[in-house]
Amino acid sequence: MAQPVPAPASQPGEPLVVLDHVDKHFGALHVLQDVNLTVRRGEVVVVIGPSGSGKSTLCRTINRLETIDSGSITLDGVPLPAEGKALARLRADVGMVFQSFNLFAHRTVLDNVTLGLRKVRRIPGGQAKERAMALLERVGVSSQAAKLPAQLSGGQQQRVAIARALAMEPKVMLFDEPTSALDPEMINEVLDVMTALAGEGMTMVVVTHEMGFARRAADRVVFMDGGRIVEEADPETFFTAPRSERARDFLSKIL
Ligand code: ADP
Ligand code: MG
Repeated sequence: MAQPVPAPASQPGEPLVVLDHVDKHFGALHVLQDVNLTVRRGEVVVVIGPSGSGKSTLCRTINRLETIDSGSITLDGVPLPAEGKALARLRADVGMVFQSFNLFAHRTVLDNVTLGLRKVRRIPGGQAKERAMALLERVGVSSQAAKLPAQLSGGQQQRVAIARALAMEPKVMLFDEPTSALDPEMINEVLDVMTALAGEGMTMVVVTHEMGFARRAADRVVFMDGGRIVEEADPETFFTAPRSERARDFLSKIL
C-alpha cells in the first residue's frame, strides 16, 4: 500500500514549532496578542504566568484544539492543517498532556495506549500492545495495564497519559499544568518522567508552576501576561534577573 512519504525530519536546533504574529480572541477578550514563539527541535520551553494569561490557549492552538484569528503556526515548516486526516495526524504529532489526565474512563490502561496506535497509526494489534507495554514500563506503570484509569492514583494516571501521547511518536509534547491536579507526593513521579524525556531530547512545551522543574529542565522560560509573551530568557537569567516588572511581581508571589 502506498504510504505518503514523510517530510524529512528537521535537524536538532532547527525550528520545529513556529508561531508568527498569532492573535486570538474569545469574543471581546483578546486572549493571544501578537504571540511570536519558536520552539526548536530538542528544546524544552517552560511557559509560566498568572492564571488567565493565555498559557492553555497557547498550547491548544499548537495542536489546533483552538483556531487562531490571524498570524500563522507551522509544525516542521508546514502550516497546521484545518481538518480531515491531516488534522488527525497533527494531533498525533503534537502530543498533549492535560491537567485532568483525560484518559478514556471505560478502557483499560493498556487500551488507552493502544487505541491511537491502532486507529491513527494503523499498527496491528499485537505490535501495538508490545509498544504500549514498553511505554508503560518506561513510565513505571506496566503492572497496572489491565486496570481501569479510576483504579490508579493520579500520578499513575498522568504517567499513562504521557505514555499514550508518546505512543504516537510525537514530534513535540505539550504539557498543560500536568501536576496541578496531583497530591504533592505524586508530583515528583510525574516530573521525573518529564525530566527523563527532556534528557532524551524530546521537544517539549511545558506550562507549569513547578519552578524547580523549570530551573532544572528548561532551556528557555517564556513568561506570559495578559495574552502576551512579556519576557523570554534562559532559566538562570529569568529567575535571578527578570527584566520586566510584571515577571518580578509574579515571581515574588510564587517563590
Ligand atoms: P491560562 O491557561 O494562562 O490560565 P487560558 O488560556 O486558559 O489562561 O485563558 C485565557 C483567558 O481566556 C481567560 O480569561 C479565560 O477565561 C479565557 N478563555 C479560555 N478559554 C475560553 C473559552 N473557550 N471561551 C471564552 N473564554 C475563554
Ligand atoms: Mg491554563
